[in-house]
Amino acid sequence: MGDEGLNPWFAKVTVLLACIVMVAIRAPHGQRSRGIPVARNRKGALETVLLTIASVAFLLPLIWVVTPVLSFADYPLRRVPFSAGILGLTLGLWLFHRSHADLGTNWSITLEVREQHRLVTQGVYRWVRHPMYMALLLFAAGQALVLPNYVAGTSYGVAMALIVALRVGPEERMMLEEFGKDYEDYTARTKRLVPGVW
Ligand code: SAH
Repeated sequence: MGDEGLNPWFAKVTVLLACIVMVAIRAPHGQRSRGIPVARNRKGALETVLLTIASVAFLLPLIWVVTPVLSFADYPLRRVPFSAGILGLTLGLWLFHRSHADLGTNWSITLEVREQHRLVTQGVYRWVRHPMYMALLLFAAGQALVLPNYVAGTSYGVAMALIVALRVGPEERMMLEEFGKDYEDYTARTKRLVPGVW
């Protein structure tokens, strides 16, 4: 039995829904965090570049949904990757929700420490130090599988890989400077993204 290929509308509806859910999860937390003054800001040129890349990468799938400009890179949508992708998106969004709930008002879109910043080591932060980046990587993998376009499907994955590669180091140095021994102990008992691995 061959896999005839699914109607791309399945992908369009899924991508749109996933992006709406992601924004809806972040919105209330983002709003609460932004109300708290920033004590120390580490947003250098690299952060500006990374945030710009991430914004473009978030928009490309939506551009694919609503316009034909990226159709040159389309390929047929298959049932198996599509189903696996929905699983990745669901897991990613669940972890995104959990990490925002656990991080609370200590969240920032960039590298900064807020007034009365608290080191969170509970909830999903007990398992790994960067559950939100893990959530975004799962989301990106899900998107690459559900979205049958070489450019729009992979864009978020590229952006997240860059963020993980270039931000985790500076972020951990900032946390170490801020929380000293507490962060050192936390680092000693946790991994960055995958429990027991890295
Ligand atoms: N890297 C984390 C958090 C992403 S949000 C994750 O992937 O889950 C980025 C901001 O979160 C950083 O600027 C820092 O201020 C804050 N942060 C990161 N780890 C934290 C922790 N364990 N407790 C409190 N704040 C943290």
